[in-house]
Amino acid sequence: MSPISAHHRFRDPRSTRYDFLASVLVRCPTCDKVARIVAGPEPAGAHGPGLSASRRLVCRNCGTSRESNRGNTMSYRGPYEPAVDPYFGLRLWLRTETRHGWVWAYDLEHLDLIKRFVQATLREGIPWHDSGRRMTVVARLPAWMQQAKNRDEVLRAIARIHASLLHS
Ligand SMILES: [Zn+2]
Repeated sequence: MSPISAHHRFRDPRSTRYDFLASVLVRCPTCDKVARIVAGPEPAGAHGPGLSASRRLVCRNCGTSRESNRGNTMSYRGPYEPAVDPYFGLRLWLRTETRHGWVWAYDLEHLDLIKRFVQATLREGIPWHDSGRRMTVVARLPAWMQQAKNRDEVLRAIARIHASLLHS
């Protein structure tokens, strides 16, 4: 009998990072507290919220409110650059640096998905013959986040991110 039930089993839910853009936590450019980027008013004829939909930056602390109607999102600048949101280019709130690179997430659900993956000792990959979504959050995590020897360090980084939200 293998003690498989004692392991944290993880199955990729196939979420992509675009699934976590409904409410992105960023640092407010005015007061440095937590602000959110949410969907802006829908223009007539829009096909639901998507990457090209307008977005609104809202800070409940200082009242800052800005609209973004930019048609394109900014490209992600790589694992060693501080992570920013794709609409306004503001610093993500849920991020911290480790000696390997940045741990970052758009929202708490996104962070939780990364945490569950890192905690898992048994990870079910997407089968090679599967034609579904491949560029998932999990599939795109850098190699150092997937290594067991870095597990504790990444989990500590995630705990720091949670703490930064509590003290904000
Ligand atoms: Zn503010």
